[in-house]
Amino acid sequence: AMRHLPYFCRGEVVKGFGRGSKELGIPTANFSEQVVESFPSDISTGVYYGWACVGNGDVHKMVLSIGWNPFYKNIKKSVETHIIDTFKGDFYGEILSVVILGYIRSEKNFTSLEALISAIQEDIEEAKRQLDLPEHLKLKEDNFFRLPEGKPVNH
Ligand code: ADP
Ligand code: MG
Repeated sequence: AMRHLPYFCRGEVVKGFGRGSKELGIPTANFSEQVVESFPSDISTGVYYGWACVGNGDVHKMVLSIGWNPFYKNIKKSVETHIIDTFKGDFYGEILSVVILGYIRSEKNFTSLEALISAIQEDIEEAKRQLDLPEHLKLKEDNFFRLPEGKPVNH
């Protein structure tokens, strides 16, 4: 799962398919299909952690899931980022920049909403701890986040 990491990626935030993540209190900014297609086809599905910024905004901790997209009968992947901070409103159409640094777990099926929410909360706590490590903190200052015209793909 770590073979492609760190993975740098930038692209537009599009509308998802209303799977209710906002209702769970865990909104996920979805990358466009084009951006998802640019990911390595053998990248593992599951939950990752890293850094993210919207437009030229601050760099925040994030958790990111790579999963199968039910809208496309699970033949296409979706890539969704939950930024670990509170935003005033939506940022559809804006450019989201992420660097994916580590893998937390594989995709799971949950038997209840409570189980799903608590798993995501654990993912968030794990991401916060991992990202405080010096080796991960240094990526927060990477030029990738300060150069909008920088390399849009992995480097
Ligand atoms: P959708 O199905 O359209 O992706 P979500 O319920 O997952 O809907 O909400 C995602 C949207 O919420 C994002 O596209 C973004 O505009 C907004 N949003 C607000 N706060 C956050 C956050 N902390 N992390 C990610 N997205 C956020
Ligand atoms: Mg979403």
